[in-house]
Amino acid sequence: MFLTHLECTACNARHEKGLLLNLCTACGKPLYPRYDLERAAHSLTKAALKDRDFTLWRYREVLPVEHDENIVTFGEGGTPLLPAKRLGAKLGFANLYIKDEGQNPTQSFKARGMTAAISMAKELGVKKVAVPTAGNAGGAMAAYAARAGMEAHVFMPRDTPSANRIECEQTGAFVTLIDGLITDCAAEIGRRKADEGWFEVSTLREPYRVEGKKTMGYEIAEQFDWTLPDVIVYPTGGGTGLVGMWKAFEEMEAMGFIGSKRPRMVSVQAAGCAPIVRAFENGERFAAEFPNAHTGASGLRVPRAIGDFLILDAVRASGGTALAVTDDEMREAVKEMGMAEGIFAAPEGAACAVAIRKMLEAGQVGADERIVLFNTGSGVKYLEFFQ
Ligand SMILES: *Cc1c(COP(=O)(O)O)cnc(C)c1O
Ligand SMILES: [Zn+2]
Repeated sequence: MFLTHLECTACNARHEKGLLLNLCTACGKPLYPRYDLERAAHSLTKAALKDRDFTLWRYREVLPVEHDENIVTFGEGGTPLLPAKRLGAKLGFANLYIKDEGQNPTQSFKARGMTAAISMAKELGVKKVAVPTAGNAGGAMAAYAARAGMEAHVFMPRDTPSANRIECEQTGAFVTLIDGLITDCAAEIGRRKADEGWFEVSTLREPYRVEGKKTMGYEIAEQFDWTLPDVIVYPTGGGTGLVGMWKAFEEMEAMGFIGSKRPRMVSVQAAGCAPIVRAFENGERFAAEFPNAHTGASGLRVPRAIGDFLILDAVRASGGTALAVTDDEMREAVKEMGMAEGIFAAPEGAACAVAIRKMLEAGQVGADERIVLFNTGSGVKYLEFFQ
C-alpha cells in the first residue's frame, strides 16, 4: 500500500519499513509511520468512502498493513457520533456530541490500536506479543492475538478492574499480575522480552497502535461532513488517541480533505494521576512521573507517558488546555450521562463531561461551540468502581 517509512517524532531519523521496530534506534523516542499521501489521495476520496464498510479499515490507504490477508479485525471503529442534546442542555451546551467508543469490540477504543498493531505484527512474522496495561489494552490485545493465533502475555497491576483480567484469561492470554503500576508492568516486560522472544506492543513504543487510534480523527471529520469540531475533549493516559487524531488532521489536510483549522484539544486526567496537566500548568514540554498515582479510572492511571511531548505540543498548538477531575466527580458524571443519554460510560469518558462543565464555568469554552466528548470505553468493564 502507501506506507513509505517510519519517522522519529523527536529527531526525525528515518527508519525503513518492513522491520520489527519499537522506538527510534537513534534517540529512543516514538516513531510515526509515514505514507505517500499524494498517491493515497488518488483512491482515498470522499466519493470512494461512500461505498466502504463503516469500520476503521475504510481508511485503508493511510493504514500501515501491506497485504489485506494480514488484517486481523472484528469490525472495529465506525462508532456513532451521538448528539447529546439532553446532557448538553443540562451542562449548558447547544452542540454537544459524544463519540461512543464503548461500542468497539472489547468495549473500548483500545480495539482500534490493537487491530493495527496485531495486523502489523502478523505481517512482520511475530508469534508472541506482550503488553503492559492499565486495563483495556490488555483485553484488546488478548482478543486480537487470539484471532491471529499468536501467544499473548499481558502484565497488569493487581488491582486492575476484574473484567480486564477475566477477558484476557478467557481469550487465552497469559496474565501476570504485578504489585505496582503500568510502568512497573512495562519494566518487567523490558527485563524478560529478549529471553522470551516477545514483541512489545506498549503504546507509542510500538509504532502502529497510534495508526489505529488516529482513525478517530478521520471518522469525526467524515461524520461532520469533512469539518472539524471546535473542541475535542479526550481522557488522556498514554495520549495515543489525542496525538493520533492530531496526526490524522495533518494527513487529512495534506490530502485536501480539510483546511488548516484545528479543534482545541483538551486533555483530561484524573486528579490522582495528572502528569500531563501538571506539565501543562508548569509550562513544561516533558512531564515528570506523577507520584503515588491512584484513580479508579484505570485507563488514566499512567504516571509517565513516553509521548508526553507529543501530547503537550498538540494541546498547546491547538490552543487547548489540560485539566484534572476527581474520581467522585467522574462517578457522578457517569450517572449523569447515563440518565441523560442512556450511555453507560467508562469513568474516563465521564471525566470529559466534568471537564467541559468546568471549562464553561471558567469561560474557556462557549455555550454554542461544537464539542466532542470521547467516551473511550464502556462502564461494564468497571463494575467495582460503582460498588
Ligand atoms: C487507555 C484508555 C484511555 C487513555 O487512552 P490513551 O490514548 O492511552 O491516552 C482512556 N479511556 C479508556 C477507557 C482507556 O482504556
Ligand atoms: Zn529519534
